[in-house]
Amino acid sequence: MALSFETGISVVLGLAAKIAEAQSLVAANVTGSATECVTCSFQAEDMVVLHMVKAIHPSVPVLFLDTGYHFAETYEYRDEMAAAWGLNLINLTPRQTVLEQEAQFGILHQTAPDQCCKLRKVEPLFAALAGYETWFTGMRREQAKSRAQLQALDHFTLPGGKQLLKISPLADWTTRDVWNYAQEHGISLLPLYDKGYSSIGCEPCTSLPSDPNDPRSGRWSGRKQECGIHIQAQ
Ligand code: SF4
Repeated sequence: MALSFETGISVVLGLAAKIAEAQSLVAANVTGSATECVTCSFQAEDMVVLHMVKAIHPSVPVLFLDTGYHFAETYEYRDEMAAAWGLNLINLTPRQTVLEQEAQFGILHQTAPDQCCKLRKVEPLFAALAGYETWFTGMRREQAKSRAQLQALDHFTLPGGKQLLKISPLADWTTRDVWNYAQEHGISLLPLYDKGYSSIGCEPCTSLPSDPNDPRSGRWSGRKQECGIHIQAQ
């Protein structure tokens, strides 16, 4: 899309202000202690947040939900970036392997995706988060209607009652902001974006977007919007 000179300048200035704001939020909340973590699906926005946090806290724990159902490209990119950035990568695995789960329950991502996400994402993540105080995410309001009210600084209550500080420094960023930041900082992104995916999770539950204005319209074939890891105990 071609931009006029004035529009281009205001986009650049707008992004500069957003970067400064996000970096300042990160700087104010990263102490370098082992009680801070970043969740990372290795999608673009998570890489941007991780880039900011690790600049201050290089050994920050990076939590990856290793469901066993990811694209081969995601695993390959995870391993490449973990090596290139020297990440303190923590792969969170469910209690059962994919084979064990399918033997016991069948193909849950087809029959009961909420249960599958609970077993393979929500339970492992919530168990891990209990060991931290501050949680950084790459969530953005623009990603989905379910995220429209997202706050950059929030509290998150785990089922056991523990409360964490949940920080989403890119809450008001657009997709273009994310891409521009990645380009400016030489961050190579998950190659699946080049195939047209706009939101990338487990392979069986990720398709090309059906609505160009809804980046998550390719997730779960429209059956649901969230896996549940961002829904806190009431
Ligand atoms: S995204 Fe799909 S495959 Fe992955 S845990 Fe959820 S239902 Fe299962």
